[in-house]
Amino acid sequence: MKLPSNTPPRQPLNWKSYWKQLNALILLALLSAQTCHAAKLIAGATQLAESRQVGTDKLDLQNVVDVAYSKYKDLQDGANADYIPILATVPSDLFGVVIATKDGQLFTAGDIDYKFSIQSVSKPFTAALVMQQMGPQALLDKIGVEPTGLPFNSKMALELYEQRSANPLVNAGAIAAVSLIQAESESDRWAQIKENLENFAGTELPLLDEVYQSEYETAWSNRAIANLLYNYNRLYSDPEQALRVYTQQCSLGVNTKDLAIMGATLANAGTNPLTGKLVLNSRHVPELLALMATAGFYDESGAWMYSAGLPAKTGVGGGIVAIVPGQFAIAAFSPRVNQAGNSIKAMKAIRFIAGELGVGLYGANPEE
Ligand code: GLN
Repeated sequence: MKLPSNTPPRQPLNWKSYWKQLNALILLALLSAQTCHAAKLIAGATQLAESRQVGTDKLDLQNVVDVAYSKYKDLQDGANADYIPILATVPSDLFGVVIATKDGQLFTAGDIDYKFSIQSVSKPFTAALVMQQMGPQALLDKIGVEPTGLPFNSKMALELYEQRSANPLVNAGAIAAVSLIQAESESDRWAQIKENLENFAGTELPLLDEVYQSEYETAWSNRAIANLLYNYNRLYSDPEQALRVYTQQCSLGVNTKDLAIMGATLANAGTNPLTGKLVLNSRHVPELLALMATAGFYDESGAWMYSAGLPAKTGVGGGIVAIVPGQFAIAAFSPRVNQAGNSIKAMKAIRFIAGELGVGLYGANPEE
């Protein structure tokens, strides 16, 4: 076939320029693949950030608190803990739900002013005081940070794990944390622990003396734990003193709003949103939240993280507080607990709210 006249005559193949062009093409392909990947990553991160912001304006927060309250208010599952005899006498139907934002706004429903004993919800906050005084490495070395997968008062965990105290959110580690506070006397130890919890709450917290008496008189299991720890050189004060102060710590009275503000202080990177006081160095907040994520629910910690995806801490008095880092805290209270000692209604309310707002740490996980 005859070539059209304007077609340039065919050049002999120039391998050098061909090779150059091929390289340029490969480079272009690689670059665009990378750009595409980066774009995908950015889109994913934006989506995640957006999903975390979903529904967190004022109206939605009040609305989701109201819905959670009415959804679970009539639930009767579980029973008051009674191994501390006085806890059995707390009215079982009480139920309060509160969201406290990192700037101190409250969204509330139900029995939010009722004072109940803080119990194990106090544990991460005293661990925070250990970090403040001695740094996170001391917590790791002198107590430990491994979840036990066993009940909160397990003596077996203490025998099984070489660190003995396991982590500061089970009784052994919490009693060890009390013993680690740098104190001159028992009353000084107690004063520092109480003041720290009050700094987190932004208000004074009364000692519920009846709860203290009831628990201390029956504290044979915790006494055994304190003595075993001492035997293994993993308790750092006189065991009976540590037991008494630990029991006082657990007997402090809080209401659901106090718990929410304590959590909001962690959501606000360690500064109390009501008082503006720095309670925990912001550098240590992530470590504390990691502990709550891995061990906050004892032998149910995996199931909790699997469903709600938020660091949280429970107490056998029926309180729970969960933290959405950088945003807000969700607290709930209801005395009926399950086998693990975790409040059933409080757990459901918080899990529901987390799902509705899409604030799980690993992404939105709506309730099925
Ligand atoms: N004071 C309680 C105890 O030591 C705390 C336990 C809890 O709240 N799970 O047994």
